[in-house]
Amino acid sequence: MEPVVLKGLTGFLVRRFVKNHLAVTDEKVRAGYGYLEGWISVWVNLVLSLLKIALGIWIGSYAVIADGFHSASDMLTSILVIFGFYVAKKPRDQEHPFGHANAELVAGLIMAVLLIVAGFELMLDSSLILWRQEFKTLDANWIVLAALGGTIVAKEWLFVLSKSMGLAINSTALAADAWHHRSDSLTTVAVILGLLGNQAGFAWFDPAVGVLVSLAVIWSGVEIAKKSISPLLGENVNTETVRRIVDLALCHEDVYNAHDIYVHKYGQQHFITLHVEILSSLSPIEMHDISAMVQGRIEEHFGGACTVHVDPVDFQDPRFQRIADLLKGLVQSHQELLEWHDLQFRDLEGGCRLHFEFSVDPKIKEADYPALSAKLYEELKGRTEGAEPHFSLEPGYTLPLRQERSTN
Ligand SMILES: [Zn+2]
Ligand SMILES: [Zn+2]
Ligand SMILES: [Zn+2]
Repeated sequence: MEPVVLKGLTGFLVRRFVKNHLAVTDEKVRAGYGYLEGWISVWVNLVLSLLKIALGIWIGSYAVIADGFHSASDMLTSILVIFGFYVAKKPRDQEHPFGHANAELVAGLIMAVLLIVAGFELMLDSSLILWRQEFKTLDANWIVLAALGGTIVAKEWLFVLSKSMGLAINSTALAADAWHHRSDSLTTVAVILGLLGNQAGFAWFDPAVGVLVSLAVIWSGVEIAKKSISPLLGENVNTETVRRIVDLALCHEDVYNAHDIYVHKYGQQHFITLHVEILSSLSPIEMHDISAMVQGRIEEHFGGACTVHVDPVDFQDPRFQRIADLLKGLVQSHQELLEWHDLQFRDLEGGCRLHFEFSVDPKIKEADYPALSAKLYEELKGRTEGAEPHFSLEPGYTLPLRQERSTN
């Protein structure tokens, strides 16, 4: 991933206060970013809330006072950011052997829910005022308007700061806080428009703008919740990652292919399991050493842990190549099939058996497997070098990618 270069004041603050700021996959460095954003937000929100409450009391505007209390509640959100990164930084222990990195996602999710709740509250308040027609004329002077304008500038600065820091370390918690800051500045815009509309004689203007702003707040909360929930449930990895794993596995000339690749991402670490097909004429010790080497290379590249399962295949047998071509053709002519693997001949007393597996498009229901199996068996019958075909079907959840060493 290309590192995000932080410019301007944000870049200065990060370079000044985050030790080793370019190592964005290190949980300690990520915590440094989180603390910096969190503490700046806490202090700015404290000043803003005191200012808004004072202004609101001065001119008797409930909207301005409510906005001030909203800023005070945002201090809690920012403290949550700090807490989330504090927990995420903790090393692994007896209770949590995978570490605590997902605390960051949990913090992001809680903040998204708080944002949605804040949006609904704002919508309820504004709708009630519209419904009851409780309009009143306010005395908004230019000092109040200028001061509120200043709070918008401060909040927009926090938005830019949090958003770019969130991009730099790819964090949903910081992105959530950024959009919270923006929703606050939109709220204040609505408050100012309301005051101006009120002065111009349109008393309903203030609550009407309030409803629109609340919808924007709810929408951003839902977006952030989705971003936090998906990695918590466990996401599939992209083709690029799978390709990288296959490339690393094929580093040794006696490895024929890699398949059944499962990647579980936890925080910045990857937990990977895969099968590698290794030339069956090698000794168990040699196979062990090759699989250990593949494992080591993958762990070195991705961090975390990798487990490799060995499937011995005799890809130098001429029969193997002929069957491989047959299966390749079958996969190409059937949309349901993604790839095949684990091709082995078993010479038994009663005759020769051919074992292999097909990966099936996950869109196909497993209830339809027996019918598909029967169809494939009919097509294979009599074409498998006199060996009896025994194959199974399995859903191919890792993105389809067939890559093996060519033996001709
Ligand atoms: Zn398999
Ligand atoms: Zn296998
Ligand atoms: Zn070992």
